[in-house]
Amino acid sequence: MANNIQAIRGMHDVLPDQTPLWQYAENIIREVLSSYGYSEIRLPIVEKTELFKRSIGEVTDIVEKEMYTFDDRNGDSLTLRPEGTAGCLRACLEHGLLHNQVHRLWYYGQMYRHERPQKGRYRQFIQLGVETYGMSAPDIDAELILLMDRLWKRLGIRDKVSLQLNSLGTIAERSVYRNNLVAYFEQHLDALDEDSLRRLKTNPLRILDTKNPAMKDVVANAPELMAYLGEDSLQHFQAITTILDKVGIGYEINTRLVRGLDYYSKTVFEWVTTELGSQGTVCAGGRYDGLIEQLGGKPNHAVGFAMGMERLLALMETLNLPVAPAVDVYLIRVGEQAEQQGFYFAEAIRDNVIGIKLQIDCVGGSFKSQFKKADKSGAAYALILGDDEVSRGEVSIKPLRDNTEQQVLSQAAAIEFLQTSFLN
Ligand code: ATP
Ligand code: MG
Repeated sequence: MANNIQAIRGMHDVLPDQTPLWQYAENIIREVLSSYGYSEIRLPIVEKTELFKRSIGEVTDIVEKEMYTFDDRNGDSLTLRPEGTAGCLRACLEHGLLHNQVHRLWYYGQMYRHERPQKGRYRQFIQLGVETYGMSAPDIDAELILLMDRLWKRLGIRDKVSLQLNSLGTIAERSVYRNNLVAYFEQHLDALDEDSLRRLKTNPLRILDTKNPAMKDVVANAPELMAYLGEDSLQHFQAITTILDKVGIGYEINTRLVRGLDYYSKTVFEWVTTELGSQGTVCAGGRYDGLIEQLGGKPNHAVGFAMGMERLLALMETLNLPVAPAVDVYLIRVGEQAEQQGFYFAEAIRDNVIGIKLQIDCVGGSFKSQFKKADKSGAAYALILGDDEVSRGEVSIKPLRDNTEQQVLSQAAAIEFLQTSFLN
């Protein structure tokens, strides 16, 4: 086995016994998104490196140390997307979608970050991204939160996640705050770790984001951004909390919540869980009006979020949801005639019972060994075809999940029986 090639560290296969839960979640996600009128957008996995440097910011963890960057054969620097916001905005600008238009978009797919793999943190992972453009009013910030709340409820994990909320104000408000924050940390240099000393020069707000327990006190006593917000930012924030109060969605205002990326303004939020250790953020987002100009567009508005699917699935695994079997009906063929005719009979069933999940035993063997496989498949019925049945145009139907009797029907009657059982 030593010579077998294995998957890349931090990049995982999703095996057939896991895909039903993924598909279950994906179907509900699509339903909830369409119930708010969101449209899907499909984007390339590779973009020019410059796009991420310009949007995410040079002094973020992602750009500094997590990107999969390589030179294309013609020398262009390309990067496997570490997140979807930049590519989505690039596409909308490139195709002129932002001229006097409003958009509610979502995308779903792999993202790549060279991080230290651990539970809930991988090098290839899947995000659902939701981005809205062209709306300045707080209603849309609130709509995204309501949408997520509805999604958690539909997925059955509402009691496992809670909402944290903050406002980062405008860029101008944040720059006054930033100066005062730097002044504060400069008085407490001995309490800062190496990362934070570096960030003090490059991106001091990120110090508030630290996961180092030794810095808990110095961060807790730092000035709070909320106190620096102007009238407009405060009103925007209050409008959101008013809606949340009215619909009964609980939240915690976390003034230390700054998010890793430079491009946020006003609203930021995270849905967090205590069930996944330090990988506790399942979904994160906020308003990023400023990014549009940063990427060359006209001043405009944008709010969005991204949800990590592996973390979502980890929460859902604990629910032990019943999963529909991959097979409804299993066809057993014993004998030469049965093998030949059974193949076409199966096609006739699929023609007439649209949507039925019918599997033929293509390995053969004794009736007994095929019957065992039928049982194991999870199918509700075994169809049994021997040469005798074929000569009479019949088939036996054996229920596998209850004690009702096996019956012998003409093949036409069997199709009718399956129609009443599996067509709804
Ligand atoms: P974290 O603080 O956990 O590193 P982040 O701030 O880097 O998260 P975002 O860039 O906001 O995360 O991405 C949104 C979501 O994508 C996260 O909340 C998480 O659910 C998921 N995510 C991010 N990085 C990874 C990863 N390496 N593996 C799995 N999921 C991830
Ligand atoms: Mg990260």
